[in-house]
Formats: sequence, C-alpha cells, structure tokens
Amino acid sequence: MQKYYQKIKNFGVTPSDSRREQQGTTLLNQIILALLILQTLLYPDFLLQGNTTALIIIITIQFFTIIPLILNYFHKKNAARCYFNIVFVIFMTAIICSHGEALKADSSYLIFAITTILFFQKSIHRIFLFSLIIAAYFFSIYYTAHYPAIFEAHVNFTTKTIMFLATLTCIVITINQFVNESFAYEKKLEVALKDIKSHQIEITKQNEALAQANQELERFAYISSHNLKTPVRTIRSFTDLVSRDVKKGNLEHLEEYLGFIKQGANQMQLLITDILEYSQINQNSSIQQENVDLNNTVSFILTQLKSFTEKPIAIETTVLPTLVSNKTLVNSVFQNLIENAIKYNQNTKANIKIDYETLEDAYIFSFKDNGIGISKEYHDKIFNMFERLNSNSDYEGSGIGLAMSKKIVENLNGRIWLTSEEGKGSTFFVKLPK
Ligand code: ADP
Repeated sequence: MQKYYQKIKNFGVTPSDSRREQQGTTLLNQIILALLILQTLLYPDFLLQGNTTALIIIITIQFFTIIPLILNYFHKKNAARCYFNIVFVIFMTAIICSHGEALKADSSYLIFAITTILFFQKSIHRIFLFSLIIAAYFFSIYYTAHYPAIFEAHVNFTTKTIMFLATLTCIVITINQFVNESFAYEKKLEVALKDIKSHQIEITKQNEALAQANQELERFAYISSHNLKTPVRTIRSFTDLVSRDVKKGNLEHLEEYLGFIKQGANQMQLLITDILEYSQINQNSSIQQENVDLNNTVSFILTQLKSFTEKPIAIETTVLPTLVSNKTLVNSVFQNLIENAIKYNQNTKANIKIDYETLEDAYIFSFKDNGIGISKEYHDKIFNMFERLNSNSDYEGSGIGLAMSKKIVENLNGRIWLTSEEGKGSTFFVKLPK
C-alpha cells in the first residue's frame, strides 16, 4: 500500500527538478489522491439512497479530479497545475452554484489560494489566478443568492461532512509537507554547517602545515646554498692558485692543488645528492606499505658497504622481525645509521650491534657502535640539517643523513634518538610501528 502511495505521490517528479518543483508536484498528487478517496466515500451513501443522479455527478467529478494526476504522470507538470488552479476553480464554482446554499463549500477556495502561492512563482501568474479565485467566489455567492439550486436536494449531512473533510485534508497535507520539508532543511543545514566547520579546521591545519613547510623550505634553501658555498670557494681559490702557478711555470704544488679541487668537487657532489634525496621525502605524500624483512635489509646494506669499505667490520645482529612499512624509507634509515657507526669510528675494527625490543604496537631497534661517541649537548642538534661535529677532512659527509633519517622515521610515525658519551661509542634507537 505504502509502495503504491509513494509511487502516485511521485508521479512526474524528476531528479533534475529543483527541490521546490518536486515539492509542488508531490503536493498536487497528494491533494488529488485525498480528494479522490473522499469522493469515493460518498458512494455508499448515494447507493443507499438510490440516488443515481448524485452518483453520476460524483463519478463525473472524480473524472475531472483525476486529470491533474494523469498530467503529472506524463510529466506535464505545468498543465496539471494550471488545470487545478483554473479549470478546477471554474468546475468547483459550477458545483457550488448547482448545489446552492446547502453545500456551503466556500472554504475550498482557500485551497486554491494556497496552491496558487505554492505552485506559481511569477507575480503576474499569481495576480491572474487570485483574480480568478475572487471572481469565482463572488460569482458563486451572487448566483446562489439569486438563482435556485439544481441539485439542492442531493446535499445531506454526509455530503457536507465529506466536503468539509476534503478542504481540511488538503490544508493539512499542504502544511504537513512544508513543515516536514523545513525540518529536513534544518537538518541538512546543520549537517552542512558541521561539514563547513570541519573543512575550516582542515583548511586551518593545512595552512599551518603550509606555513611550516614554507619556513622549512626557506631554511633549507638558505642552509643548502650556504653549505654549497664552502666547496665552491675551495675550488675557486685552488683554481686561482693553479692558474697563477701555471702562468709562472711553477708546477711544484699542482698535484696538491688539484687534490683540493677534487675534494671540493666530491664534497659538492655529495651535498647535491644528499640535498636532492632529502627534498624528495615528502611529508604529505601517502607512503606505500609492504612487508619489510629487516634481515634482508641489513644483509643487503652490509654487502653494499663491504664492497667499498676497507675497514674491518664486526656486526652482531639477532634475527630481526618483519615490518609492515616502506622498504625504501626503512632501508635509507638503517643504511645511514650503520654507515655512521662505521664511519665515526677510530678503532681498527668497527663493532656494531643491531638489536631490537618488542612493544605492544611497535619495535625499538638499536644500533650500538664502539665509535668516537657524541657529547650529550649535541644529542638533539645532530638531527638538524647540515649539523656536523667533525671536520670534512677527518670524516667526509654532508650533515644531512641524520636529518633525513629523522624526517623519514617521523613520516613513518616513529621516533629516533640516541644515548652516547664522547669517546665511549653511541647507541642510536629507532622506534617504528609494527
Ligand atoms: P654526515 O655523516 O653526512 O656528517 P649525519 O647527519 O649522518 O651527517 O651526521 C651528523 C653528525 O652526527 C656527523 O657529522 C657526526 O659528527 C655525528 N654522528 C653521526 N653518527 C655518529 C656516530 N655513530 N658516532 C659518532 N658521531 C656520529
């Protein structure tokens, strides 16, 4: 039953219509349906009275009543509305006139007045329809006062009640639809406001992140250029010396100068590759997750290291777990820490111990070395870009490795820190989610 009611109610409603249009169509369908039902309720009364004329009249009325519903069904929405507010008004007047004082159906003009406002937006249409309603109303009053009614005898208590109920039902349906709609709008508005608020918060957060990224970028550009200046200056001054000595024919220090130039160029190359690598870690990019067997990671790093490090290395490691993380990023962090453990070490043999501890939802990996160690005051600073505690002549480097490791670990929702004492080796800790 409900299904059929919904179907009839939505006759002629198309999703492309505006909400107001849809409302008008469903409202008219509901009014017509209610009128048809109420008119049918008159059948038993007329049948019991044996009043066939009244029965024929009511069936004729029903025929005229159903027309807007049919027009809506065929998507002739405007025709349906015009019919209801023009033809129906005239038809209604004819019924009132023919039934005379006994029917007293003047209140039904109220429905036409309301639907005129709801169905028609243009003022000219409204003025025309209101004029028609008023004219029809006064005509019915004048006619019933001056002329005898044809069907006065047909009007009994049931007819009057049904007529009254018809008017009342139409008004109730109209009010109900608009009250429901306004509630629905209120709810939608509330949801939309909440949505806007959450978007605003999101935008504020993004703006803050953007400002921070801008600041970082500025710092990054400043420090990068500043650090690149040193090897460039070295190369420039030694090329000046080379050209001066070549002009003089003095080739005694040439090899030494060329060595410095080469060193400067190497340093520049190292800086450029590291800066590039660092700049490619994007904080906001989505990180691809996969199974990372850390035993493979470590053995891959060691094979690579052994191919270009002459220093004897003793690595002690337990069987490491498998993480769900990003292989390239984890590899980069492990490589940096292992390389540093070997590089910042003056012992004949670099001892490195790789271990881990299991927490509920994370692992803490430790990289312990017997290297030169780091004084406590630098434990935070070494994670800043280009922060180096040793000269380039002692240990080659760019000062980016740990800054990059920190950025990566934080991107993976982890943490990096160390315990160390100068001269007593260091232990770097990396906490990563399982
Ligand atoms: P780089 O090694 O290129 O200089 P890093 O960012 O990796 O850059 O390291 C920053 C500084 O931290 C290094 O210059 C070094 O002074 C210090 N450092 C890093 N790892 C160790 C370590 N295992 N032992 C002692 N010092 C270290």
